[in-house]
Amino acid sequence: MHHELYLADVTATKDRMGAPTPEPRNAAEYLRRFNANEKIDGFGIGNVHIHMPCPFCAAPEFMVFEVLQTEQAMMKGATCKECGRGARAQIRKDAAGTSFEILQTAGPDQPEWLTPKMRRIQT
Ligand SMILES: [Zn+2]
Repeated sequence: MHHELYLADVTATKDRMGAPTPEPRNAAEYLRRFNANEKIDGFGIGNVHIHMPCPFCAAPEFMVFEVLQTEQAMMKGATCKECGRGARAQIRKDAAGTSFEILQTAGPDQPEWLTPKMRRIQT
């Protein structure tokens, strides 16, 4: 996922505790659900948790991790309780810098409207 997505607009998190939303049927619904379900809570270094929605259907609590553990959590990945798809990040560091890619590890194919597509890997 993109850093700017979950670091954006932290102050609005308390307005986001709405009713659960259904699985999205298009990109606009996905974005709306993703924004509603991404949260950051806690105070102080080492105690701030990121609640990351599912990268496929934006269901809440796909991953919850400490800000300082972001890289480890992303590389470990998770599986969505709602759509059954799994994902993990692949981080490559070389002379050109750090590249970051989300890979699908489990579950059904991604919905047609979801772009860019994440590559699949076998685990
Ligand atoms: Zn999902």
